[in-house]
Amino acid sequence: MKFFRALGFGLSLCMLGGFAFAQQAQERIISTDVVVIGAGGAGYNAAITAAQAKAKVIILEKMPVVGGATIISGGSMNFPDPKLQEPAGIKDSPEIMYKQMLAAGDYRGDPELVKVFTDHAPELRAWYESLGIQWAGRVFEPFGGLYPRGHNTGAVNAGHDYIRVLNDAAKKLGVEVRTNTRAVALLRDGDHGSVYGVKAEDKEGKVTFLAKAVIVATGGFADNVELRMKHDPRLDASFHTTANPTGKGVDFATGDGILMGQNIRADVVGMDYIQMIPWAGGRVTDYVGADIYVNSDGKRFVNEGGRRDRIADGILAQKGHFCWVITDDQSVKGSQLEPGLKAGRVHKANTIEEMAKVMEVEPKVLKETIERYNKFAASKQDPDFGKTTFTQLINKPPYYFGIEHENVHFTEGGLRINVNTEVLDLDGKVIPGLFAAGEVTGGIHGTNRAGGNSLAAISVFGRIAGKNAAGLVSASADE
Ligand code: ADP
Repeated sequence: MKFFRALGFGLSLCMLGGFAFAQQAQERIISTDVVVIGAGGAGYNAAITAAQAKAKVIILEKMPVVGGATIISGGSMNFPDPKLQEPAGIKDSPEIMYKQMLAAGDYRGDPELVKVFTDHAPELRAWYESLGIQWAGRVFEPFGGLYPRGHNTGAVNAGHDYIRVLNDAAKKLGVEVRTNTRAVALLRDGDHGSVYGVKAEDKEGKVTFLAKAVIVATGGFADNVELRMKHDPRLDASFHTTANPTGKGVDFATGDGILMGQNIRADVVGMDYIQMIPWAGGRVTDYVGADIYVNSDGKRFVNEGGRRDRIADGILAQKGHFCWVITDDQSVKGSQLEPGLKAGRVHKANTIEEMAKVMEVEPKVLKETIERYNKFAASKQDPDFGKTTFTQLINKPPYYFGIEHENVHFTEGGLRINVNTEVLDLDGKVIPGLFAAGEVTGGIHGTNRAGGNSLAAISVFGRIAGKNAAGLVSASADE
């Protein structure tokens, strides 16, 4: 049946007249089993899993390079891992993660999706190891993660490591990755039929991909100012994104998959929840416990280990909407340190007085703030703001510090999916042939995503999408 539809589609193109014929000469039609839109973490996980199940897979990527937001991420990935956590006295399990995640998102996450995610999260260690990832072997609390279950490869740009191994694995399995190829529309049989392909554009012009299953993995809409202002009117163009902090580069997170889905009656969920994080370059650690935030008066104002939305509200409430982030010599620094020092975003000082001078705050006030904080860190109790995770005192010069303000980071909302990652339409019915995974989907993180849950969720749901898309392919072969 699908064959005839594809044939009919091809024939109707062939029957077009003179002018149309010239146009059609440039229009190519490529058939495959599964088309994945987006070569980020979710797209690769889906493509590899589908290819492992013997499906023929093509990934479409609009940018000249692969990786999306995944490749530039700090690389923290949350999953319960008793072998590492227990020796450190940390109790964890899928059930604990499930409860914490629902609470972190104010119970707006879909409990069924959260359950599937947290049940599968512990598989991520072995899954990534099977692809070639070597874990650093330390467990930590990612920034905004709210619990010590973060893992990474230990590299300063850990996001690169995931994409490198994913890309290698995809290539080995024969997945075709087509960069500079932008999906522009999903092809659906009427308003209620199956999705059977994708219209796209590449350097040679228009190209149509016909497939038995399509997986949308196009990431979020943080850089679509119009769309994000529709859902949070505060987020005008004066806010940059974490993927493009200067506003001078390009960001790929333009919500294409959501818009293409809506054009064929896909439903969306949670679109109003848009996450901001401090990402101007002054913060040089990406875990909780090694830094403090002070305002332009040299005073703390927030729990630095709290929820990302609370920290965003805290910073936006300060004079000038910024704060200083201070750490010292003992902390583990991320990729921001060297470029930050060179560009003057990060400063180095040997004394608190020297630091206060650069910050233009009263040295006495800053000294009191740091001394008071260090007392809290020593007793692991913070009566002022309720911080509970301290990995060190801030007392070993040189101090490293820089200005931070909020950038748009992650969009919790997106296409509505069920536990099989099938996309649901406006009537709550499955759109046959259409799957979605990663930041393009909504309903998983609720109002506020915990730091470290993104890479884990895009991986878990990417794999589910790949498995189910391949299942559809083999089912249609049996027809
Ligand atoms: P996730 O974390 O959900 O995997 P990423 O941001 O890592 O999301 O990856 C999404 C990828 O999808 C990016 O590489 C982005 O360039 C790509 N993308 C977005 N829109 C399109 C589109 N219309 N056609 C092809 N690729 C797209």
